[in-house]
Formats: sequence, C-alpha cells, structure tokens
Amino acid sequence: MSALLNGLAASNGIAIAPAYLLVGPDLSVNQQYSANENHEVDRLHDSFALTLNEVQTIRHHAHESLGKRAAAVVDEQLNILDNRSLRTEILNKVKRDHYTAEWAVQETADETLKVLEKMNDNDYLSSRATAIKDVTKRIISHLMGVDLPDPTLLDHRAIFVAKNITPTDTAQFDRRFVAGLVTDNGGRTSHFTIMSKTLSLPVVVGTHEATTVINNGDLIIVDGIHGKVIVRPTEKEIDKYQRLAAQFDREQQELGTFKNEQTVSKDGRHFKVVANVGTLPDIIDARQNGAEGIGLVRSEFLYASNDQLPSEDEQVKAYKKFLTEMPGQQVVVRTLDIGGDKKLGMLKLPQEENPYLGFRAIRIGLAQPEVLRPQLRALLRASAYGQLAIMFPMIATVEEFRKARKILDEEKQKLENDGVTVAKNIEVGMMLEIPSSAVMADVFAKEVDFFSIGSNDLIQYLFAADRGNSRVAYLYQELHPAVLRLVKKVIDAAHAEGKWVSMCGEMASNPLATPLLMGMGLDEFSMNSSSILHIRSLINQLNTRKLQPLIHKALNAATADEVEGYIRQAVPQATE
Ligand code: PEP
Ligand code: MG
Repeated sequence: MSALLNGLAASNGIAIAPAYLLVGPDLSVNQQYSANENHEVDRLHDSFALTLNEVQTIRHHAHESLGKRAAAVVDEQLNILDNRSLRTEILNKVKRDHYTAEWAVQETADETLKVLEKMNDNDYLSSRATAIKDVTKRIISHLMGVDLPDPTLLDHRAIFVAKNITPTDTAQFDRRFVAGLVTDNGGRTSHFTIMSKTLSLPVVVGTHEATTVINNGDLIIVDGIHGKVIVRPTEKEIDKYQRLAAQFDREQQELGTFKNEQTVSKDGRHFKVVANVGTLPDIIDARQNGAEGIGLVRSEFLYASNDQLPSEDEQVKAYKKFLTEMPGQQVVVRTLDIGGDKKLGMLKLPQEENPYLGFRAIRIGLAQPEVLRPQLRALLRASAYGQLAIMFPMIATVEEFRKARKILDEEKQKLENDGVTVAKNIEVGMMLEIPSSAVMADVFAKEVDFFSIGSNDLIQYLFAADRGNSRVAYLYQELHPAVLRLVKKVIDAAHAEGKWVSMCGEMASNPLATPLLMGMGLDEFSMNSSSILHIRSLINQLNTRKLQPLIHKALNAATADEVEGYIRQAVPQATE
C-alpha cells in the first residue's frame, strides 16, 4: 500500500525517484568509560581514516561542481583532521582517563570549542567552530557505524526529503542529481522554496511528516503541481504519474513557442516579463525562457556558499558577467538582503527573537556601511557593461531610502573623481515590501525611479503571518482584497509621477493574479524563469480593457475566495 502526503505545491512538475533523506541520525554521546583501551584506540584510528577519506571525497566533489571557494571551506575540516595536538588529546583521554572513543572525541571537541568561544575573532571562530563540529560529527558517526546524509556524495538522481532545507543547502546542490524536493516545514514563499524554483524541480513543502513516513531509498512521487507526495507507489500510480509527467512536458514544449514573442495584451498594451535570479547559471535559464531582462538579482545568493563577504573586485566580476550576459536588457540588482530566513554564513549576525522583524536587508546595510559601500562601488564599476538598475530591499521609511541613495551618490562621486567610468543612466529604485512604504507610496514615488513590489514580504507583514510557517499558510492570500488594494495604490502612485512598477514576489507568477495585475496596470512581471512563458502566454491572451469590471469587483470583494470566483468568471470573457 502506498501512502499519500499532502503539502503545499511549491514548484511545478512531477518527479518519480528514490528518496534521499537529509536527516541526520542521533549522535548524542554519554560520558562512558572502557576497560579495553587498545580496542578503543583501534576504533579511533579506523574512524580517523574513514573520516579523512570521506572529507577528501567531499572536497573533490565541491571543487568539481562548485569551485575553489567551496573546496576551501572543506579544507578547514582537513586541517582539523591533520591537527596532531587534537589527535593526541583524544588518544590521551582514552589511554589516561579510560574514556570510550566516542566520549573522548566529544569531550575534546567541546573543550576546543570553549577555547574558541573566548577568542574575539568572529570570522575565524565561526569557520573553525563549524569545521570542528562537522568533523566531530563525522568521526562519531563512523564510531557508531551510522551514515550521515551527504548530498555531495550522491551519484544518482534522487528526491531530497528534509525537515527544512536552507537557501545555502540549495545553492550547494549538484543539479544533476536532485530530482525533486520534499520538506516537513516551510511555506510557498520561504527562501529555500524560491531558490529551489531556480533549479526547475518539483517541490512540495509543509507536509509535516515526510521525514517520518519516508525511508531512505523508498520510491516516491512528488507532484509539485498539486502539492502531493505518494510514498511507495503502486504500479498503477506510477503509470498514472508517468502519463501526467509526459503531459506536463508536452505543455512546457508548447509554451516554448512564446519564447521569442513580445509580451503584449490583446488590446495592444506592452508588458515586460523578466526573471528573478540568484546565481550566474540562473541567467542561462532566464535567457532560455525568453526573459526580457532581469527584474531581481538576489545578490545575497551569489555568494551563499561563502563564509566571508566577497571582496569589491570579486563582486565587480560577477555583476559584469550578469550585465554582459543580458546585452541591451535591464538588470535590476538588489543590494544584500540578509536576515529573516536567510542566515548566510558570510555575515555573523546575532540571534534574534523575531528575525523577520529584526536586523535584515537595508537595516544592516545602513548600520554597517562597510557591507553596503563596497557592494555599491562594485555595481557602479560594473555599470558601464550593460543596463544596470539598483534597488534597496526592505525600505520602511523615506529617510532610509534617502540615506541609501546618499551613500550611492557619494560612492559614484568618488569613483568619478578617480576617473572610473560609471554609466549615466542607472535607475535607482526600492523594493516595496513593507506596508508602511506601500501606504506612503505617493511620497516615495517622487524620490525613486521605480518600485518593485515584494509581495512575499508585503503579504507576510500585511497579515502578520510568517511566510515560512505552513501552519499559518492559510493567511497567506495573494488574491485578498487587502493585498489588491495596496498593490493598486502603489501602481497608481507611481504612475502619477511617471514611474514604473514591477512585481518580483511570487504573486507575479501566480496565473490567477495575472489578469488582476494586468488590469491594474503593473508594468513588469518578474519571476522565476520556469514561469515566464506561461505568464507571457496568458498576458497575450487577455484584453486589459475588458478586465476593468473584474478589477472593480475584486477591489470591493470581502474575501480572497470571492475574488477567485470573479477571476474565473471574467477571464473567458476577457480573451477577445
Ligand atoms: C519579496 O519579498 O517578495 C521578494 C521578492 O524578496 P525576497 O523573497 O527575497 O524576500
Ligand atoms: Mg523580500
């Protein structure tokens, strides 16, 4: 008998493959002694050798698929394994104190971590501490004879099953071997979900119990269209889903015909459908899917696997590449948006009670200009290579925008004084994702060149519902009149000042929202590349003039369900 899990459909497509559980075994160790010290010493030597072998393989894979920097992170683990005094201390604890091998390893690691904690060098501390914890885990797992999950060692296609997956994990996946993703937790707009979309994989999140129901190696089906996971499917189910997968592929191929078309409504209104990207390979997907530019570079993901902020020169190189890969098309780069659920190792941030309401994005950039200034300088230095636009994330007040813009102007002046060429026509905008700035959109519109509506955050703050928490996902209502009224207000405020508006949150790729956004006059739809052709095909079928009665009804509706009903009624009549 198969088992069915229901979750949230987070990314399209269907995959059928064995499960690979990213859930570690229990490695807790108790204080225990052994009378047979020779035996313990032998076990230690064996597990050191196995760990060394394992870390060397991981380093090799990291170097092959992710490059030098990723390999350097693993080097830190090799250094620890090579450290003679650590080894001697572990062996002493067995010979002198009669500890078991496991307890000797754990005690030595704990003592070393305590010493590190007393040091003040944050960067050193954190990368070394992470490496020590990792190596300890590996040695103990070998002593216990249990396997640790390690996707970098995978050599076949599998569906990853985890409690949670962090954006850093997704950045490190080897695209060849991930067939799909399933998680216990998470929401449709959690950052890991968004990142996994760039892998164009079927994803189902918020199943609550995937990691308890699914065993390693079980055959599973991920239906990312309907949000279902079928565990240990019957022949009949496999057959049915193979047919559905083939139909999905056919539909995708048909959409290919829209690749080189313009995005223009039945009544001749032009829109732009552009891509959201996080890493350089995403640009290739964007081009293959006919993106008319890049509406959002989530610059924080460019370096997600780094444990340090990239230098200004490294950033110049990356931004230049983005710009030159999209000749003649605009590339909107957002300055670092770290914090919330994006806890990237490169910035050591304090733990907070409410990270989504805390120190994140532009708040960090303004408080720590040593983070923001080099990024802005790098962007300005790269600007001559294409059509760059810059935007600031999480702007809550006009003062924040002014401060950020002032820093940008200062850096521009400095570069020009030094004879560096900076493009003349860089547009400067802001993410509109905090309700206070949506309410004040008319005031902001006088100061910005454009708005980009971050519906993911805007909706979570509007309904006070964590975007990553599947328990409150029912409150995450893109079609709710409260959202629509705010979006309309922002678009009208921008247009009154002759400015343009993009939307780069997930709502921009929700086909049910397309007629509403078109009818309200959104200029640009920015989304994951895999959604571009579908949304373009929809826009090309609709007449914005005929959508106006729908907009009126939707804005005056009481619930999101009512709005959905109106959309379903109106769309067939708005296609002439
Ligand atoms: C948003 O909030 O809608 C957005 C696009 O930014 P992010 O998802 O990176 O927070
Ligand atoms: Mg956001």
